[in-house]
Amino acid sequence: MPRVETRYYCDVCGKYYMKKESAVECEKSHLIPESVNGADYAKDDRKNQYPDSVLVHFKGGKSARYYRMQR
Ligand SMILES: [Zn+2]
Repeated sequence: MPRVETRYYCDVCGKYYMKKESAVECEKSHLIPESVNGADYAKDDRKNQYPDSVLVHFKGGKSARYYRMQR
């Protein structure tokens, strides 16, 4: 006899849980980007169309600098 299985997905990362509370906790654990600025461009590279790094600000006040992967 088939049975119904209820799963709860984190709406941010997509991981699923059997308990709704766990999925809600997972959603709250993620930092959501709010704005980006502080772009840093290489001075010695002629192909500097894209910034080497940017500063990402998250909801809640935290921020982190993200760097471009090496080409
Ligand atoms: Zn998640």
